[in-house]
Amino acid sequence: MKMPAGERPEVRIVGSGAPEEKEKLGKQILSSFGEGHGTYIPEDLRELIRATEQEKTENELIAIAEANNITNELLRGSGLPEFDIPPANIHFIPREVFAQALGEHESGSGATYIAEQAIAINADESRQNAVWDNEIILHEMIHLKGYSAFEVDAEGKRRIFRSGLGVGDSPKKRKGGENSGIFHWLNEAIVTEITTENLAKLINSNAQLTKEREWLQSEKSEKLKEKIAGQLKIDPEEFLWLDEKGGITHPYRAEREVLDYIIEAISQDQEFQPDEVRDKFFKVHFTGHLLEIAHLIEKTFGKSSFEVLSMIDAGTNQQKIMDYLKRHRRLTNGAQGEQ
Ligand SMILES: [Zn+2]
Repeated sequence: MKMPAGERPEVRIVGSGAPEEKEKLGKQILSSFGEGHGTYIPEDLRELIRATEQEKTENELIAIAEANNITNELLRGSGLPEFDIPPANIHFIPREVFAQALGEHESGSGATYIAEQAIAINADESRQNAVWDNEIILHEMIHLKGYSAFEVDAEGKRRIFRSGLGVGDSPKKRKGGENSGIFHWLNEAIVTEITTENLAKLINSNAQLTKEREWLQSEKSEKLKEKIAGQLKIDPEEFLWLDEKGGITHPYRAEREVLDYIIEAISQDQEFQPDEVRDKFFKVHFTGHLLEIAHLIEKTFGKSSFEVLSMIDAGTNQQKIMDYLKRHRRLTNGAQGEQ
């Protein structure tokens, strides 16, 4: 089922807050998706965005339409209603506004705000490359269409309760934000994997990207890809983009390596095809049924492994995570875990 234009499914709101406060937030989220978009963004910020926002290019408009189709297919596959994110909810803004007013990383390319149903894209970053621009749109859209839930506490304070596989606020530096979230590294790894798997569809359907498509399909680029993948010991399918000088785009590499290992180990130990396990993880991003993943992880890595994983910080501790997982897989499965 596809929802009418300007509508999206309700977002779950939990917590000990007053029912009317929760209802207010629920309505805000729904109306932000349609004509009320922007009403709930603080006025000074709204004005700044309006004054500096850049008109979307033809490439970007095509990418938004196609990214909606791709993500709707994923929603349908997860048994969920489909809905389109209107172009008006996606804002291409200059780097300074992205970094200063929104408090995002200067080199960051995009950010998704669930309470406001908005996507902000750092145009100075994203527009360096037309394929990358497409990729960022798809990535952020997967965030915004993922499972989300809010918490309103007894004092009326709101915070993100769930965002895809992430629990709690994302560990971002947004002004005044709390850094209490967990599983955000896993959330980013999954969103990036879903993006990578679907990027070819996006590129192939966009007539603005003929030049880039020809390059990616050329023998020269294939050879270069193999060479670089060999040097870096990574799967060539995991690049998002390769330029003629051999520069690659491969975001959240450390996080995705951990995810790949988890998927591989689960599929070996529990006799699944790797794609089946990937699919299960992808679906949970949209359905929010985190326990399904917890169950798979604990069966391979031991009883408290899901909890331990939840306490880990992204990226920086990747080797520690891998060591922990390998050790506990051995303890849980005996010799089978030696591989
Ligand atoms: Zn992301």
